[in-house]
Amino acid sequence: MNTASSIVARRILVTGGAGFLGSHLCDLLVEAGHEVLCVDNYFTGRRANIAHLLDRSNFELMRHDVTFPLYVEVDEIYNLACPASPIHYQFDPVQTTKTSVHGAINVLGLAKRTRAKIFQASTSEVYGDPSVHPQTEDYWGNVNPIGPRSCYDEGKRCAETLFFDYHRQHKVRIKVARIFNTYGPRMHPQDGRVVSNFIVQALKGEDITIFGDGQQTRSFCFYSDLIRGFLALMDSPDEVTGPVNLGNPGEFSMLELAEAVLELTGSRSKLVFMPLPQDDPRQRRPDITQAQDKLGWTPQVPLREGLTETIAYFDRLLSSNES
Ligand code: NAD
Ligand code: UDP
Ligand code: UDP
Repeated sequence: MNTASSIVARRILVTGGAGFLGSHLCDLLVEAGHEVLCVDNYFTGRRANIAHLLDRSNFELMRHDVTFPLYVEVDEIYNLACPASPIHYQFDPVQTTKTSVHGAINVLGLAKRTRAKIFQASTSEVYGDPSVHPQTEDYWGNVNPIGPRSCYDEGKRCAETLFFDYHRQHKVRIKVARIFNTYGPRMHPQDGRVVSNFIVQALKGEDITIFGDGQQTRSFCFYSDLIRGFLALMDSPDEVTGPVNLGNPGEFSMLELAEAVLELTGSRSKLVFMPLPQDDPRQRRPDITQAQDKLGWTPQVPLREGLTETIAYFDRLLSSNES
């Protein structure tokens, strides 16, 4: 049975809507019949990700940089605008911090004026290189404030601060999700994150680039599980502000990931070991008790199943580019 909130069409702003996660979110919201305004400056996003939505009457696309004010009338906001891959967020670190911090101020000002409910795509990076494992939401993190990752980590931490201050000071209804590594179709082949790197390298028969000794771990969530979590959080009662971890607790070393990709692609690529980037977290795994208890959310897609679908996507993409 539909809930009342899913029957009533709402005006929903998605910032970063032309990116990997944002475009999948737009798909679901458009399908549900909402009026969706997608805002993106195309820094890492692509029109191709949302091209199939352009002729839908309840979808609108606006090129806009969230570091500048935006005056529109909306009921809900999903704030996803921010490059997520280390190579992209370190390309122009000042702009990355501005996107997180000025972007948050602008969308929160918009939410305050329109009384919209607002979702923030925060990140497991707020835990930095964690000394608590698995990470619970009450852990304050271990973040270098001045390193090459800080523009992203501290930008997202400051955005969380702003969300909670607008909530306490101005009664803005907030929903803060701490997202752990998520992968799937529509990742950019040059995105630079580990899952897309390994798959593209395996499919092209190039060397698989393991940074460090490959013993560092990550927990990988398939995009469809994650987006279901976004909607569950947005539709939860107002007192559920988060921060709430959203991720798949299955934990793998980068060597295990490489082996799974090699096996599923049937590739004969060789593993090569490269220097570990500075401040690269050694381990990461979400404690999702809060998401389970408060949202009734649990990820369903195991790594190999999600990898198989992602490999098929990159295979199609690479063969169409080559033909
Ligand atoms: P992505 O790079 O594919 O998407 C980010 C989108 O934001 C892109 O379309 C980009 O063009 C847009 N953008 C960047 N700066 C902007 C600006 N100043 N104004 C307007 N648009 C801007 O990355 P993604 O994986 O889809 O990530 C989406 C969000 O989720 C990000 O906020 C990211 O920090 C967060 N997140 C993602 C993951 C993950 O594993 N995918 C993990 C933690 C957090
Ligand atoms: N803002 C926006 N759209 C709106 C309302 C506000 O982009 O509909 C931006 C604007 O740049 C403003 C910021 O959000 O400076 C913060 O708004 P707030 O009302 O908190 O503060 P103030 O307007 O006093 O700066
Ligand atoms: N990584 C790797 N090879 C690559 C890209 C990344 O071994 O080609 C490693 C990286 O050092 C990190 C992990 O994979 O330990 C996840 O990196 P990613 O950039 O995907 O995400 P994040 O570090 O932000 O979790």
